[in-house]
Amino acid sequence: MNHSSKRIAIVGAGPGGLTLARVLQMAGYSPVVYEGEASRYERQQGGTLDLETDSGQKALQAAGLLESFYEICRFEGQSSKIVDKNGKVYQEDTADQAPDSVQYSRPEIDRTVLRDLLLDSLRPDTIQWGYKCLEAVPVGDRQYALHFENGQKDVVDLVVAADGAFSRIRPLVSEAKAEYSGVSMIELNILDAANHSPGLAAFNGPGTVYALDDRKGMIAQMNGDGRIRVYLGFQAERDFLESVDIPYDEPEKAKPKLLALFADWADELKPYISCANGAITPRRIYMLPVPHTWESRAGVTLIGDAAHLMSPFAGAGANLAMLDGAELALSLINHDELDTAVRQYEQKMFDYAGAVAAETKANMELFFSDNAAAKLGDLMKSFINP
Ligand SMILES: Cc1cc2nc3c(=O)[nH]c(=O)nc-3n(C[C@H](O)[C@H](O)[C@H](O)COP(=O)(O)OP(=O)(O)OC[C@H]3O[C@@H](n4cnc5c(N)ncnc54)[C@H](O)[C@@H]3O)c2cc1C
Repeated sequence: MNHSSKRIAIVGAGPGGLTLARVLQMAGYSPVVYEGEASRYERQQGGTLDLETDSGQKALQAAGLLESFYEICRFEGQSSKIVDKNGKVYQEDTADQAPDSVQYSRPEIDRTVLRDLLLDSLRPDTIQWGYKCLEAVPVGDRQYALHFENGQKDVVDLVVAADGAFSRIRPLVSEAKAEYSGVSMIELNILDAANHSPGLAAFNGPGTVYALDDRKGMIAQMNGDGRIRVYLGFQAERDFLESVDIPYDEPEKAKPKLLALFADWADELKPYISCANGAITPRRIYMLPVPHTWESRAGVTLIGDAAHLMSPFAGAGANLAMLDGAELALSLINHDELDTAVRQYEQKMFDYAGAVAAETKANMELFFSDNAAAKLGDLMKSFINP
């Protein structure tokens, strides 16, 4: 029996939920996506992502959007430089333009641009904006009633949690909670970097600079809109972001305090803080246990961060969320029985996501270990010359 007539609700219009909706729609399904935000413009989507061939790009292929992606992505954004606090360079790479190059298989795209690509590929009535899901309550042993903050309710045959780190649906299948990873970040922005801070823009180049030392880091990415987005990273106690007493909403007062945290770092690195001319945002980094699995339950499953929230130190979360979306869609399309389709997806996902989550955790430890720049340089070289 084809179950394209079953009511499938996807909670969350992030990269995972949107990819799932797109691949299902291409096969004649009519999923509904419930998104808590009021519109696509409600929130800045954040920085640049590199999409990998075997995950993010594979998902876009399934979604029929890979060619469109190649037209708008930035191959040059893959270039990278790894330095220590003295500015000593351990690894430097400039990316070529070839999409089929093995060496450079992770072209960059700004999150907003990627989200627009996915949103615009869907039928106009697919997303229900302003539907924040409060909970999913079992109805009988197969269905779920979704309750929304706006007072609306929907009863569905399959609810897919694509609602990110603090999923409201996850408790139906797992007791695991997103826990503090031990790393905190402070995000700064240098808007219009080429004109505002040309020296820094030249130092940074079109890709990412990783400056790592003393269990701290500056990770700076050139974005497609011309800004350099900088993540200051700290291995620190959970209350670090408050305890350092930085007025994040007053950037000019915050910057001297941030500079003091990097007082003995090279002069060429300090402009990542001193030149910041945009918002400053503190971010505690959370993760789920590694690995995170659950007993399959009829009528519900998780994708993306809801399933395997991890720190950003392998640049994998959005890639995996999209792969999950594509894999679940293909499993639904290819199996006659709903529960079998969900179980098959989950088994496959547990394998690949578990491996990446373990790698990400190891990377996070490496980034904040002694001689981190040298170690990361060696790791990068091993990818390029395996
Ligand atoms: C600093 C940082 C840098 C990162 N860098 C990278 C990177 O370079 N590469 C990479 O691959 N990944 C990166 N990630 C990870 C990546 O952002 C996530 O893994 C990815 O966005 C997960 O996608 P998702 O679709 O599962 O969830 P999300 O992107 O979190 O989307 C969830 C959606 O659900 C909505 N929602 C939430 N709750 C509800 C609710 N109750 N009801 C309805 N809607 C709801 C939200 O508004 C949102 O639109 C980074 C993360 C961080 C924090």
